[in-house]
Amino acid sequence: MKKNVYDYSRKSFEEYFLSIGSPKFRATQLFEALYKQRIRDFSEMTNFKKEFRDILDETFYFGDLGIIKEQISADGTRKYLFGLEDGIIIETVLMNHSYGRSVCITTQAGCNMGCLFCASGQTKKIRNLTAAEMVLQVLKIDNMLRETGERVSHVVIMGIGEPFDNFENVIEFIRTINDDKGLEIGARHITVSTCGIVPKIYEFSELGLQVNLALSLHFTTDEQRSEYMRINRRYGLEELFKALRYYYEKTNRRITLEYILLAGINDSLEDAERLAQLVQGMNAYVNLIPYNETGDFKRSDEKTRRAFFDYLMKRGVNTIMRKEQGHDIDAACGQLRLKEMRCKRD
Ligand code: SAH
Repeated sequence: MKKNVYDYSRKSFEEYFLSIGSPKFRATQLFEALYKQRIRDFSEMTNFKKEFRDILDETFYFGDLGIIKEQISADGTRKYLFGLEDGIIIETVLMNHSYGRSVCITTQAGCNMGCLFCASGQTKKIRNLTAAEMVLQVLKIDNMLRETGERVSHVVIMGIGEPFDNFENVIEFIRTINDDKGLEIGARHITVSTCGIVPKIYEFSELGLQVNLALSLHFTTDEQRSEYMRINRRYGLEELFKALRYYYEKTNRRITLEYILLAGINDSLEDAERLAQLVQGMNAYVNLIPYNETGDFKRSDEKTRRAFFDYLMKRGVNTIMRKEQGHDIDAACGQLRLKEMRCKRD
């Protein structure tokens, strides 16, 4: 069976070409054809000899994603529903920032982490996405942006799915988009977000990637975190923070702690104090996120959010309040996909 050509990092192509007796540099040439020239037909890769093009053609095919729907928000955020080869629908979000354009990537169809507040967790994982399916989310959107002279400058791996539950494919994907012969998205412009799969945080620490790590913390006691985030029953806060400290020692990269403010649940000043204590002595900053109401929970009101923020600042914690985007098109956390699936069922 032919392989999706976007599934391979340059290193994987090198290994493959060496195994068939072709020189390694072919991998670089192929990468440039795919990601710089955006060629989607081996016969157009005229810097390769015909025999080599034939080998490529027999081995690989050009995968694609079908555009099922595009929604544009008043603030310019765009949300795409893409169809995979087996009919699964995923979503990808493109956001505008003063510093560029960022794309939020889906890593799994559904998710098994089961966090109570998250719409994605309401649908069980169907399967992992391949590296190609993640690369294509960026590539398709970058192709559209190219038409107006723009490009994808940032990638956040925060869409549906738990990236560290699909570790190898996510790493292969990161290598391809980060590659200077690939999509050339700077490592510091790539953020991967995890709910805290501790062994994978250690593995990630060893890879020498300069990408940003974000940790979905959201709760400050084991009791509460275990109630809302099942992963905490497996890896509690002490173990988790030990892994985060290890990551920092290894990489010297500052960690982002994500904290959704849920009304009456984790938004008191006692919570803020516990959070300050957890973060103490760590090179981390806290990203406060307004909750996107998807189910039984309510977001904290503006005044409470402000008080929480001010408290952390007073305690010397680096804190940012995340601006919300695409609210009018449900551009957050699996809502659109859920809606679509409900429609399909009806
Ligand atoms: N599984 C990964 C990445 C996907 S979720 C993780 O847990 O980090 C990306 C972020 O969005 C996480 O911090 C998640 O907790 C948060 N999130 C989930 N549902 C949300 C909602 N309705 N509103 C705001 N943030 C939400």
